[in-house]
Amino acid sequence: TDIRQLPLNDDRHLPQLGIGVWQIDDATTPGVVSTAVELGVRLIDGAFIYGNEASMGEGIRQALVSRDALFVTSKVWNADQGYDSARAAIDGSLGRIGLDYLDLALIHWPCPARDQYVETWRALIDARAAGKVRSIGVSNFNPDHLDRLIDETGVTPAVNQIEINPRFQNAGVRAANDARGIVSQAWTPLGNGKSFDAPAIREAAARSGKSPAQVILRWHVQLGHSVIPRSTKRDHLASNLDVMDFELTGAEMAAVAALEAGARCGPDPESFEAE
Ligand code: NAD
Repeated sequence: TDIRQLPLNDDRHLPQLGIGVWQIDDATTPGVVSTAVELGVRLIDGAFIYGNEASMGEGIRQALVSRDALFVTSKVWNADQGYDSARAAIDGSLGRIGLDYLDLALIHWPCPARDQYVETWRALIDARAAGKVRSIGVSNFNPDHLDRLIDETGVTPAVNQIEINPRFQNAGVRAANDARGIVSQAWTPLGNGKSFDAPAIREAAARSGKSPAQVILRWHVQLGHSVIPRSTKRDHLASNLDVMDFELTGAEMAAVAALEAGARCGPDPESFEAE
């Protein structure tokens, strides 16, 4: 495949297209990871709270590529925020996955009421300095949260992983990320399938001979951000990668843009404080 490498603000690179392993059980995860790698995936998005870091590591070891060809992400969960607990959480993720470094560690949610994301960020900065993590970033951060990190530590996140799909395009946060030199990465990129039947998607799919999911992933790719769809099925894993050989027209991009409905699939970062 010809997946682009997006440049990060720390001189490293992030594969534009990968997979996420949320809600995949321990019995299924190793096969999904090794199959995806076999098909050409190099970016694997996990998290402590997904409960499958160990089986993700099993899949990585089963995959027939070297560790340094892969880009592995994990995330510090809300209950592990704070300097010491975040340092320990990164060590815990490395132990469960069975790696000696992560390519990317993210703060999973800002949890503004908890008000510990700045000290959690200092833990990620120090974990990077200690060689446990190559790149550091955040997830679900609004622009004011980003600015506090930057103002108080001088270190800008490399990545902000946020909800982006046709019915919740998150244009304001994407623009704020761009303005700060932060790469956006889309979670729930397929929007739970809720726009698969929209005329804008169906017509572009018919015109290009692609599936609705491929049209939506291509829309993400053309917007320029990173995207991590999830599937346990080999044919979907393969077709989700096969989005580099066609192009949506300007009119098709505009028709997808018009599907914005302000409708989140996931929680609002301003109020999500789950432990
Ligand atoms: P997704 O948008 O990737 O959709 C997954 C669903 O779409 C599954 O039901 C799957 O069966 C179906 N699907 C996949 N490929 C398909 C295809 N080609 N045709 C038809 N259906 C298809 O949703 P997601 O898992 O919510 O998000 C992707 C990843 O983002 C997660 O696995 C996780 O790694 C990450 N994520 C992060 C956060 C966060 O807070 N940072 C939140 C949610 C998800």
